[in-house]
Amino acid sequence: MTRHIPRKRFGQHFLVDSFIIDRIVQLIRPQPGQALVEIGPGLGALTKPVLSFCERLTVVEIDRDLAARLRQQPQLEVLESDVLKVDFRALSQARQQRLRIIGNLPYNISTPILFHLLPAADAVIDQHFMLQKEVVDRMVASPCTKNYGRLSVMLQWRYEMDNMLDVPPESFDPPPRVDSAVVRMVPRGQPARCSVELLSELVAAAFSQRRKLLRHTLGQWLQARGATMAFDLQRRAEEVPVSEYVNLALACEGAAAA
Ligand code: SAM
Repeated sequence: MTRHIPRKRFGQHFLVDSFIIDRIVQLIRPQPGQALVEIGPGLGALTKPVLSFCERLTVVEIDRDLAARLRQQPQLEVLESDVLKVDFRALSQARQQRLRIIGNLPYNISTPILFHLLPAADAVIDQHFMLQKEVVDRMVASPCTKNYGRLSVMLQWRYEMDNMLDVPPESFDPPPRVDSAVVRMVPRGQPARCSVELLSELVAAAFSQRRKLLRHTLGQWLQARGATMAFDLQRRAEEVPVSEYVNLALACEGAAAA
């Protein structure tokens, strides 16, 4: 088979470190009968070992040449598509079971992918993703730390998350310019049922100027909506725990419905 030249526009950094590949597959623990979906299978570094544990795997690959190669493996269902256009909820309904989603994600669109998956969290058992370490640090960050921000709040509301493994640039070909990490994301069983859009808007307003007190940012946002609930705005956005943002979003929804 001809050598594939990595395409920068698709964020192609292929895993070549067999020790790291084995560790990731151990973390995933694929089992026969599960509805596994891989985002960005590329040349199959994770695909092949995962397939050795299960009889079937759905893969989503945007690169036409790579998708053509992957189609040669009969155990793969290849969706040649932009992952941001895939309806994961519909995929789960078609399988009649919740999905296990994995992938060494293209770093240039990793945050949009995480936000695209958020509304489908009910249809998911777990997600194991390789991402920029800096992104994983933000996802799992605690309040009152420099990494705590919009990504932490939006994802911690819906998932339990852990950094499972740090991965150096040398594990890839070509090596990325940043460190990487594998995160495990497990949707929370009974999350507060607030609107993703409203929470997202509220948190974006809060973190729009993170050095300022919330009365200058979130306060104005609440005022514009006519919301009058009690909330301590004499703090900075990074000091507010996830649960308080979620409760505020629920209160705003309640007020709007009243
Ligand atoms: N899984 C392979 C590995 O670990 O060696 C490849 C990982 S590489 C970092 C990212 C993969 O995602 C590439 O195969 C790339 O073509 C694919 N990709 C990039 N953008 C995509 C998109 N919008 N939708 C689906 N796949 C995409």
